[in-house]
Amino acid sequence: PLRHAGRTALVTGGSRGIGRAVSRRLAREGALVAVHYGHDAEAAERTVKEIEADGGRAFPVHAELGVPGDADTLWTAFDRALAAQDAAPGLDILVNNAGITVPRTIANVTEDDYDRAFAVNTKAPFFIVQRGLGRLRDGGRIVNISSVATRVAFPPIIAYTMTKAALDYLTLALAQELGPRGITVNSVAPGYTETEINPTLAIPEIRQRYASASVFGRLGAPADIADVVSFVASDEARWVTGQWIDTSGGVHLG
Ligand code: NDP
Repeated sequence: PLRHAGRTALVTGGSRGIGRAVSRRLAREGALVAVHYGHDAEAAERTVKEIEADGGRAFPVHAELGVPGDADTLWTAFDRALAAQDAAPGLDILVNNAGITVPRTIANVTEDDYDRAFAVNTKAPFFIVQRGLGRLRDGGRIVNISSVATRVAFPPIIAYTMTKAALDYLTLALAQELGPRGITVNSVAPGYTETEINPTLAIPEIRQRYASASVFGRLGAPADIADVVSFVASDEARWVTGQWIDTSGGVHLG
C-alpha cells in the first residue's frame, strides 16, 4: 500500500520549487494534495496537472500570505476546494513551505523588508497552524520548512535567518503541545537548493560556490528535500518530533 494513501495534505507554496516537489512526492505516495500558491495560478495548475498525469490527486488553493487575515483566507479556500473534491473535511499533513528571502546585510534591510519576511515566513505559519488545529486530525503531521541558515551564520541573509529561527521554535513548542494528540512537528532545513528563490543561482561562479559547499559537490534538488519531508510525514517517523532535520547535503560541517 502507498505510504500516504487515504491522507489529505496541504503544502503551502506547493506550486513551485521545493513545495512543488513535496506536493508531487506526497501525491505519488497516495495523498490528496492541496497545492497552495499566492500569485502564480498557472504554476499551481501546472503542478496539479503533473500530479494528475502521474496518477495522483491534487487541487489548487489560492491565498496570498503575509497580508491580514491570510490564514483564514487560506483555510476557507481549502475547505471549499476540498468539499468540491467530495473529500472528507480536515487534513493529516500540513507542510509550511511558502517563504521569501531577503538577500541583504543588516545595513541594507529596510523596515518593509523585515516586516514582509516575518509576515510571510513566520506569522503566516503561526496562524495557519493556530487556525488549522481543529482541522488537523489526531496522528497528523506538521512539517515546517526552515533553512540551514539557522545552523551557521549567514550575515548576507540576516533578517531571513531570523524568520526561520523563530519558526524553529514554533516547531519545538508545538511538538510538546501536540504530542498528546499523536501529532508530530518537525523542521526540515534545506541548504542551497535549485529553485527560483535565489536568482543568483543563474550566475555560474555562484552556482559553483554553492555546489562545492556541499560534501557531495552539487546543489540540492527539490526532490532531495521532498523525500525527507515525505518520510517525516509518514507513519515510519511517528517517534520523531520537535526535531530540526538538516537537508543541506552536508554544507558547512566544520
Ligand atoms: P520558490 O521561490 O521557488 O517558491 C516559493 C513558493 O512559495 C511558491 O509556491 C510561491 O507561490 C509561494 N509563496 C511565496 N510567497 C508567497 C506569499 N506571499 N503568499 C503565498 N504564497 C507565497 O522557493 P523555494 O522552493 O526555494 O522555497 C521554499 C521554502 O524553502 C521557503 O520557505 C524557503 O525559505 C525554504 N528554503 C529554500 C532554500 C533554497 O535554497 N531554495 C534554502 C533553504 C530554505 P506564488 O509565487 O504563487 O506566490
